[in-house]
Amino acid sequence: MSKFNLTKKSKAIITTGIAVAATSGITTLYLCKDSIFKNNDAAPQQQTTTLEPKVETEKSVNVCDYSMVEAFQKGLINSVSDYVRETPYKVDTIKLNINECSNVRKGYYTQISNEDTILEKYITVNFIDVDTTEIPEALKKMVLKFAKQTNDSVQQQSVVAHEAFHATHDYSKYNLKIQERGNILNLEEIMARFIEFSYLRENYKVTGDSTIFKSNFSFYQYALRRGEINPQSTDSTEQRAEQLFVLENLFNQSNQNYGSIYDKDIVKCLKEAKDYNPERPNQYQEALDDVFKTIWDGKLVNVNPVSTGELEMPTLPENTQTLVNCLTTREEYRIDSLKTVQDTTNLFLDTQNSGNIK
Ligand SMILES: [Zn+2]
Repeated sequence: MSKFNLTKKSKAIITTGIAVAATSGITTLYLCKDSIFKNNDAAPQQQTTTLEPKVETEKSVNVCDYSMVEAFQKGLINSVSDYVRETPYKVDTIKLNINECSNVRKGYYTQISNEDTILEKYITVNFIDVDTTEIPEALKKMVLKFAKQTNDSVQQQSVVAHEAFHATHDYSKYNLKIQERGNILNLEEIMARFIEFSYLRENYKVTGDSTIFKSNFSFYQYALRRGEINPQSTDSTEQRAEQLFVLENLFNQSNQNYGSIYDKDIVKCLKEAKDYNPERPNQYQEALDDVFKTIWDGKLVNVNPVSTGELEMPTLPENTQTLVNCLTTREEYRIDSLKTVQDTTNLFLDTQNSGNIK
């Protein structure tokens, strides 16, 4: 999400919502609170669709059938950039004018599926074509800057990295308590942003151009300029400090502003999630490993700062937490009931056993 604070009176927010993984249909994830733009729930009109040439790999396997971590483990890629290079995506051109820009997104991931089969799955990044005729003078500069930034090829590729993360991660398979599931879904968006950042960081390490760290990642550009971090360092303590610096910023951003954008979507996922099965092993640690495992400087790393006590788990958006609290009570009640049934059964069995004369 990007925020543009304008004059004292006119405060416009263009949200570049980046989709969380959808199980079906098209994801819609962008809000525009207090916008001076028309508040229109419909997505901006998409004028043209062009398909980027698919990168045909010479390998017999398609890298994109795997998550980034899996592709790394299979020796198919060494970096986030390698993965992005081999990920097919579409580019949509969005005509942006004053009436249609209440919702603007940089990109999204779509998955259309029926009961068991995935019918279609694709990543789309948007190219923004601004029609400035009706945009007030005071806003023009801001809107054009936003479009230029979104249309930049490096930024577009970073969005592909972000969406590819969503496209290849499915946490519904894990046996999780409701609070744990809420945490994982919240972390999924944070880590998609971390991967988006990692793509930019790899690019920076080659080009030395720190201006690619914009909006959500501008904190990193400032830290580079102040010499507070050194991404070229091979010292493990410094590398960990850098990871923590980035994660802490992303956690704070989630807690402070963008988390609420995903509230509705996480609530929807939680309502559709399978009940926790106390008779099966809990898989929270597995899900945490899944969400936090990534590629960093050509190595596979688990950047989890929560289990280590280095950072606190980000807070859940308001409605999500309310739902989690409510469902946790039901979950505990259900688990207690199951336990009672089990206890009664054991008691019954004990009584039976005690009746046996050996
Ligand atoms: Zn996302």
